[in-house]
Amino acid sequence: MNRLVIVANRVPNPRERGATAGGLAVALKDALTRREALWFGWSGQIAEATAAEPTELRVGRITYATLDLGREDYRRFYQGFANGSLWPTLHYRLGLAHFSREDHAGYRKVNAAFAATLAPMLRPDDTVWAHDFHLFPFAAELRRRGGRQRIGFFLHVPFPPGGLFCALPRAEELLADLAAYDVIGVQTEDDAGNLREALAAAGQAEAAARVQAFPIGIEAEPFTALAEKAMEKRETERFRTSLVDRALIVGVDRLDYTKGLPQRFCGYGQLLARFKGHRSKVTYLQVAPVSRGDVAQYRALRRELDEWVGRINGAYAEPDWAPLRYMTRAVARPVLAGFMRMARVGLVTPLRDGMNLVAKEYIAAQDPDDPGVLVLSRFAGAVAQLPGALLVNPLDPDEIAEALDQALSMRREERRARFEDCAVSVREEGARAWCRNFLGVLEGANDA
Ligand code: ADP
Repeated sequence: MNRLVIVANRVPNPRERGATAGGLAVALKDALTRREALWFGWSGQIAEATAAEPTELRVGRITYATLDLGREDYRRFYQGFANGSLWPTLHYRLGLAHFSREDHAGYRKVNAAFAATLAPMLRPDDTVWAHDFHLFPFAAELRRRGGRQRIGFFLHVPFPPGGLFCALPRAEELLADLAAYDVIGVQTEDDAGNLREALAAAGQAEAAARVQAFPIGIEAEPFTALAEKAMEKRETERFRTSLVDRALIVGVDRLDYTKGLPQRFCGYGQLLARFKGHRSKVTYLQVAPVSRGDVAQYRALRRELDEWVGRINGAYAEPDWAPLRYMTRAVARPVLAGFMRMARVGLVTPLRDGMNLVAKEYIAAQDPDDPGVLVLSRFAGAVAQLPGALLVNPLDPDEIAEALDQALSMRREERRARFEDCAVSVREEGARAWCRNFLGVLEGANDA
């Protein structure tokens, strides 16, 4: 079988196992064990200048080839254009986007540097798969250097309507870049429709025909096993004891402005204000590890959340009850899975999300005999696979409060039926299937 080359901004460190392994590494695990592979991208380290030669490390049949990023490139490419311009725009948040020509030039420069370093390492029959919004121009840069391989692209985040995307300066250039990919994968049919329209409007009708939705999933079985096993852990028992038979609502998100956390806290406050019967009978645990802590918008969000926690606990706490428990530390996956299994409600309300794997993990963690209820934003990509969830508009705290009340009061029969409606696709449309589907289309159905 020919070699698979994965190109992604971050490359997992094979020496770090378990909790630190990124979602992408888990999703690609199956494909990477079946064939020889090269994983290429940024090392996560910052140096004086971007390295011209990669550092290589071989583990089994996988070679990890990584580049350190120069300080200026990190600032322009990663913080500036990728996270400061593209991330908010692709999540429909134009008001939070900023643009500078220097950042844009840095973004192109790093894509060109990646392509220049990878090109001589490639074999003619390699299959190349580039991931996410950091790499729109990557295939075009590789083609410019003579790359004739099959090159696929998968966008893990949403793609907004073309009119919104094209408000970003140089958007047409990014769309033209995408045309160099043989397959352009996105998470949902909505994203696919938006991207096709944007490409067609930019005169890239042929590329529009190469856009396809491939919803990403999780490997449900191992996560269920993790959650079951967590029930025997001492940490889980201690946590359960601390709840004193109160119903648990759980939220698990990176601390990011796309996750709708202030609105979610406000919604929980509304539950306690309007549905007084739940006071003292429910505990909401929000785990939100800090991400991108060096960006001002993220620091401001953290302050805002601190205020919400103080306001809610200040208004409703009893000497023996804190309504909202909030942690900004990461929690190990095996412990997290147990919290999810214990929770009567999984609260997942991003303002916009490419997919949202936490929603699927919450379902996988449940006890099918006595499952909890998923309260889910209608703007998460996962909605299409989770028809049993209670859907909310994440901008409407009252709607969140009403859904929480409904979920907390729901009878077991209805909980079971809703859970089954979600569990089918969580079990069947996993990470492995996602990977095979994408590569099947990229390589032609016969040799996938
Ligand atoms: P995003 O990729 O935007 O962060 P997803 O929901 O798609 O959102 O994926 C997040 C992944 O990170 C999930 O697998 C989730 O379990 C994990 N995760 C999120 N928060 C934590 C946390 N506090 N501790 C450990 N893992 C977390």
